[in-house]
Amino acid sequence: MHDEQSAGSPEHQSPAFFNKLTGSVPGIIFTYWLSADALEHRYPYVSDKLKDHFGIEPAQLQADAGALFAIIHTDDMAEVQNSILNSATNLVPWKCHARLRLPSGEFQWFEAHSEPERQPDGSTLWFGQFHNIQHYKVLEESLRESEAEFSFQAGFQKLIAKLSTEFINLHFGTIDECIEELLETIGEFFAVDRSYLYEFSDDYLAMTNTHEWVRSGVPALRDSQQNVPIKDFHWWHRQIDAMVHNSRVVFIPDVSRLPPEASEEKALLEEQGVHSMFCVPVTIRGRVTGFFGVDSLSPRQWREDQADLLTIVSGLLSGSLERHRLEQELLHQSIRDPLTGLHNRRYLMPRLYEMLGSAVRHHNTFAIAMFDIDHFKQINDTHGHLGGDFVLTEFARILEHTTRSTDVVARFGGEEFVVAFVLDEADEVTTLVGRILKAVRKHPFVFEGLPIDVTVSAGIAGVIDMPSVPSTPDPVIGKADHHLYIAKQAGRDCFVDASGVIRI
Ligand code: GH3
Ligand code: MG
Ligand code: MG
Repeated sequence: MHDEQSAGSPEHQSPAFFNKLTGSVPGIIFTYWLSADALEHRYPYVSDKLKDHFGIEPAQLQADAGALFAIIHTDDMAEVQNSILNSATNLVPWKCHARLRLPSGEFQWFEAHSEPERQPDGSTLWFGQFHNIQHYKVLEESLRESEAEFSFQAGFQKLIAKLSTEFINLHFGTIDECIEELLETIGEFFAVDRSYLYEFSDDYLAMTNTHEWVRSGVPALRDSQQNVPIKDFHWWHRQIDAMVHNSRVVFIPDVSRLPPEASEEKALLEEQGVHSMFCVPVTIRGRVTGFFGVDSLSPRQWREDQADLLTIVSGLLSGSLERHRLEQELLHQSIRDPLTGLHNRRYLMPRLYEMLGSAVRHHNTFAIAMFDIDHFKQINDTHGHLGGDFVLTEFARILEHTTRSTDVVARFGGEEFVVAFVLDEADEVTTLVGRILKAVRKHPFVFEGLPIDVTVSAGIAGVIDMPSVPSTPDPVIGKADHHLYIAKQAGRDCFVDASGVIRI
């Protein structure tokens, strides 16, 4: 009873009482009054904390709330006013967030919460509090940022995973398509206008754009960027040097702010409409062979980790280009004879099957000539194995020069060679083979200063000599081999076809 009495007693409702009561509350307690016509407003009571926060005396607001409203951020003013009017009109709680200016000049976020009460004269009186929520706003913002960052990183990882899978599943011949797709995917992901791959010449004096993606409406540069001399651009040359020797990236955040010594590069980039660009070296077997880059035609913010991200992309490109080169080399090795550089038997056989198929379908025909160097053992004995190798290589060159690109020339084994001639109606195999034998006879084989007398014999067999088109090339090869045997029997330096021995 005693407590109730004292709580209701006037001394407990004095400003001193309220200040004591509100002193331990982190926020600012207030009553806010708005006239019925909404033209006047004031804070009949505001706790002393107001002064600590904003340097405004509570007494100042008792006549007019203007001093507090004057420190509301202009961007938030409409929101504050609308929420007050809405609360007054509908008598719903007034709740809003706004930035207020501190005495330091800095703005911080505050949240107000209060309950309206209509007064007999139509005015409204709110009872409530507002408090600093800057900490939460900052937290919220950084959460939003890290969420965006997380989704960017996740997106990037997904993208790299997808591109790696594509490159891993790469089959011969599709590397260009894969690179083009990579350029497009990366271009879209980083929201740039161009992405490209350049290759340096072996001496690093020129560069060529090998692949390019451009956003629609952006002019393509690839055709004009073939074999571009680098030495004319001194500044760029230095960047390339740093790229090649220190694996450095080249980042031009703003073309218009390139140093004076880069005036030529600047003019060129401006002509290409480039605002900023980024290039990362591409390395194959430890050697920088070119670079991967992106251009932005409009001003933009680049991510801080852009160099790392683009380096990952260029690593992917480097890896697949390196693998592609290796595959090409292996492919080359597996179908070529290392001594003469001619195709080998492994390459010849499927080609013969192909030619047979085409003979059946298109009624065109082909013939095989099998060549064997005469007395080759003797050549080896007289001039040594290297002398023999020299003869084989020279003969291979003669075959290349005397045949057409449609013919298949292969080293069949030892000193035996096969030429598969694709024949037109007008073609006479005997003429074609005769030309080869003549060329051998005319060719000066000289090894270590000593002339070598070289002749060859050949056996010819055509699809046309067969009773019907065979299902495998073996009978044709067998027949050519048999004819070759007859040519050897006939004294060598001649060739044999279905009609018999021919000497030229
Ligand atoms: P013929 O006129 O009857 O053909 O007589 P030939 O001496 O050429 O006889 P044969 O075809 O039996 O000899 C082939 C020789 O070629 C045997 C082998 O030592 C030699 N030979 C095979 N491959 C190579 C090679 O890569 N380099 C060299 N130098 N010799 C090889
Ligand atoms: Mg032989
Ligand atoms: Mg021989």
